[in-house]
Parts: sequence; C-alpha cells; structure tokens
Amino acid sequence: MASKLFYQSRLPRPALDRAEGIYMWDISGKRYIDGSSGAMVSNIGHSNPAVLQAMRDQMEKSTFGYRLHFQTEASEILAEKTAALCPDGMNRVFFVSGGSEAVESTLKLARQYALAKGQAQRFKVISRMPSYHGSTLGALSVTGYAPLSAPFEPMMQHMPKIPAPRAYLDGLDADDPATGLHYADMLEQKILDEGPDTVLAFIVEPVGGASTGALVPPAGYMQRIRDICDTYGILLIHDEVMSGGGRTGRFWGADHWGTAPDLISISKGFGGGYVPLGAMIARDEIVETVLDAGGFAHGHTYAGNPLACAAGTAVIDEIHRAGLIENSATVGKYLESRLNALMNRYPFIGDVRGKGLLLAFELVADRVTMEPLPPGLNAHSRLVDIAYDKGLIIYSRRTRGGLSGDHFLVCPPMITTQGQVDEIMEMLTAALDDFAA
Ligand code: PMP
Repeated sequence: MASKLFYQSRLPRPALDRAEGIYMWDISGKRYIDGSSGAMVSNIGHSNPAVLQAMRDQMEKSTFGYRLHFQTEASEILAEKTAALCPDGMNRVFFVSGGSEAVESTLKLARQYALAKGQAQRFKVISRMPSYHGSTLGALSVTGYAPLSAPFEPMMQHMPKIPAPRAYLDGLDADDPATGLHYADMLEQKILDEGPDTVLAFIVEPVGGASTGALVPPAGYMQRIRDICDTYGILLIHDEVMSGGGRTGRFWGADHWGTAPDLISISKGFGGGYVPLGAMIARDEIVETVLDAGGFAHGHTYAGNPLACAAGTAVIDEIHRAGLIENSATVGKYLESRLNALMNRYPFIGDVRGKGLLLAFELVADRVTMEPLPPGLNAHSRLVDIAYDKGLIIYSRRTRGGLSGDHFLVCPPMITTQGQVDEIMEMLTAALDDFAA
C-alpha cells in the first residue's frame, strides 16, 4: 500500500530504526554516519543519555502548560541560560518551535517596535541573495533562494536584496578588510536607494548555511554592517538558526567577530534533534517598548512548552559539560584540513569553507573561473546519493541562488572525534571517486 505520508518530493529513503552518537541505523540494519547532523540539528549527537533523562523527568511532571495560563519552571530556566549566553543587554527570550517561527518572530517584533516608536514608515527588511531564512511567508520573503520562492510569487513586498559577500566567486581576498567594506557598501547603497527612513531591519546569517554553504563573511564585514545599521537607525537581525549553538567553535556565529545584533533567531541545534524548539532573543529595550505599547501581537501554541524547554536546557548543559564548543573548533580544524587536501585529488572541488564544524565544499567545472558544473548534471543530488549508498549522509544545495552550482555541507555532530573524521573522509573519498568515474 502506498504511504499516506508526503513530504516535498518523491525521494525514496529507507525507514529509520535507531540512532546513537553520530550513527544511525535503518530497519534493515544498515549503518549510516550522520555527516550533516540531520540538517545541522543533532549537534550533540543522538540518544544523549542526559537529555533523555531530563526529558523523562520533565514528562513525569508535565508536558504542556499553555503559556497564557502558566509560567513554567522549565521555560524560566532555559530563558535564563539562553540570555546568559547572549551579548550584553539582550536578555529577553521568546520561545517558538522552529527556525522559520524564530525568524518570523524577529520580523514581527521589529515591526511592532517601529510602530511603538512612531516610525510606521519603517517596514522594509533588507536581506541577502543567496540566503535562507525559512519557509513561512515572511521568512521566505527575506530568503534569497529562487526555487523556493518562485512558486509563491509575488512574495511579501518591500524585502530588497543585496548580494551576499561571496569573495571566492568574485575573485576577492576575503582576508582583506577592503573586501568586507566593499560588500558592506552595498548595504549602505541599498539603504540610501530605498530611503533610510523606510528601512526597518537588515537580516543576515553570521555564518551562512543551507543556501550559501558555510559562507564566512570577509574581514571587517560584520563590524561594518553593525555601524551602518546604527547610523541609519536600522535593526540588525542575526539569523543564528544554523550557526548558533556552538557548531562554529563559538556559541554564536557572530562571536567570531565580536558583534552584537538587536535580534537573534536560533533553532535547530537548540533543540538538538530531541524536540522542536527555537527562540528569538531581543534587546531588552525593544521588548520593553513593545510591551509598554500594548504587547507583542504574536505567538505559537506550543511555544515554550516545558518538555521542549527541559530538553533545551539539558542540551545546553551537555554542550558545556562535554566541552563541545571547543571540540567543534579543534575537530573542525582537522576536518577542514582534510577537506582542503581533497582539492589536490579532485580538480572539480572549487572551494572549501566554513568555521568549526559548519563546513562545506563546492564543486565547479573550472576552479579558476569558478564556473559551476552544468545544472543538468545534478551533481548536488548525485553525490549525496552515492555517499548515502555508502552509509555517509551529507547535505547539499544549489549554491548560485538555487539555480545552479553545487555545495555540500559536511557538519557531523559536535561530539565527533578525530578518528570519526577519518571514517567520514574515507567514505567521502570513496564517494567522490565514484562520482568522478
Ligand atoms: N534560518 C536558517 C539560517 C536556517 O538554516 C533554517 C533551516 N535550514 C531556517 C531559518 C528555518 O528553520 P526551520 O526549517 O526549522 O523552520
């Protein structure tokens, strides 16, 4: 009988049986390495005993309390722990159940803040092309990834895009601060073109994820966009749904540049693959202003439920207890060096990039011109399928705004050891050999 389930495509995959650490098994007993932590979600690995125990303990007490009826100790504790990890002055945490909800919340809080301040004319949100911020209509409207938005055009209006700073494609030196200024100038120009008083916010992934493949901003970029937003009174939103939570070798992706936004979205590794969980964190003054003006007209039913929050707290505790941020930095460096070495063997690898264990490589037809492989080759899905057959799961997307180009995220859980990186690389090399054949 045909399955009653449907997802976005007819991709046949085997049924999952169980998972532990960085490994997963299907019901035939075949073992896989979770080389992309799902979709950069299972950051602390599967079946972590401390998280499972925390969930059991919470389940014995209560699993749901509607937020308009009860505060819960579990949500207070997680809010406290989350705020402690945030830049100074960002102490207000709003729980949601996923990344799109977290981004959507930042857009709506920003808008209500502008209204509360008597700035109704500020409604435009500038974002980057390519980028990925989520699948709900608001989050999709600020997303720069053509195949996902095309079926729903027109998107929400007044969401102008600027190019993401892809120095490696533009032949620029990412370590040269002039490069960071060059791309940040595009933000300032866009603000001036749109009319500074009409721009509400700028949203950016501090380390790029699905749409760009672990794009690291060039030197000076993050600091300069902060300055530009301050100059024009524009809110800066860091979408840390993928880069937050320690995977890059710092808790926040933006910690690599020491810059603080006004609003943060986080999800994925925040629930660690144990529960659907996300959050928006906002500067205190933004929240106070909106609450004073009558309240934030937004919320989701399951937000901040005690089971999700208890799991989220256990995930953060485990990250700290086991030193997983440090592990991401050191094992990430080793994995990055192994991926870089692949460039000697495969001329069609055009670039290796990322931070910590948020790493990617990109395939090209020509490493000098960075011309992509012919789109019809479908390299992004072919290589993933070959690796999958061998028992290695990696994550791929189209690099060039969704239209062509092929990048592959290699992002195993933050618990991965150097020996397990060797295991991953053995399988990846075998997959690339087959792909090249
Ligand atoms: N923002 C970023 C940066 C993401 O990577 C994602 C998911 N890939 C989202 C938002 C949306 O998250 P979700 O799929 O949980 O809604």
